[in-house]
Amino acid sequence: MSSLRRHGYWFCLLLLVAGLIAAPPVQTARTRVADGFDQPVGKPDADGYYKSRGFRARYHMGEDWNGDGGGNTDKGKPVYATANGYVVLARDMRMGWGNLVIIRHAYIEEGQIKFADSVYAHLDQIMVKENAQVVRGQQVGTIGTAHGLYPAHLHFEIRKNLNIGFNQRGFPRDLTCYYIPSAFISTRRKLPGGGRSTMIPINTFSVEARSASSSEDQPKSLLKDKPKPEGTKPFRVNRFDDLFSAP
Ligand SMILES: [Zn+2]
Repeated sequence: MSSLRRHGYWFCLLLLVAGLIAAPPVQTARTRVADGFDQPVGKPDADGYYKSRGFRARYHMGEDWNGDGGGNTDKGKPVYATANGYVVLARDMRMGWGNLVIIRHAYIEEGQIKFADSVYAHLDQIMVKENAQVVRGQQVGTIGTAHGLYPAHLHFEIRKNLNIGFNQRGFPRDLTCYYIPSAFISTRRKLPGGGRSTMIPINTFSVEARSASSSEDQPKSLLKDKPKPEGTKPFRVNRFDDLFSAP
């Protein structure tokens, strides 16, 4: 072996060891595989609800659901998990989001495990805890107004990209990162793998930079005097004993 090759070998080994030390391990949690996806209101088919605003790339990355009664008649009505999954975020993010729940799903398609996040925004009440397991149709909260910012409605998203969390900035606002929720659900009402469980990646986004967010629904007039972010106390999501210390 030449001296050059021997040095190359040691250099590569050094790089490998350095990489192993520097790279944080991917964190995972076990969750139930989704056996199908339902609409998040009027379960399972959105009975009594209509879509008041649809998905539009770059402008509205989800769908808005309103009760047939109009106005705030749907305030306080139940919002359900679209599928089995694991709660990766459940807290008041204020700004344009209000009370926000994000659930991570694993499902089997074409023989492969795939992942998606479902997003439930502007909730009046949150009824699940972070890192909890939920099943399809389980109530996760109630329809709200994002602290009076909007007429009551559910803003609902389904995402391909698991890194977005509550901060959409820097992510393409199109179908590379998001699904059209109704289209996604209608083609996945029943899926194989029910009863199985699998590992999902967790802690794929930060929840600390709270002030960096605004949701798509944020009216321009409100952006001028948006409330100051409060509670700068750091919050670690990667430890299970920190689960319920969020403000
Ligand atoms: Zn919306």
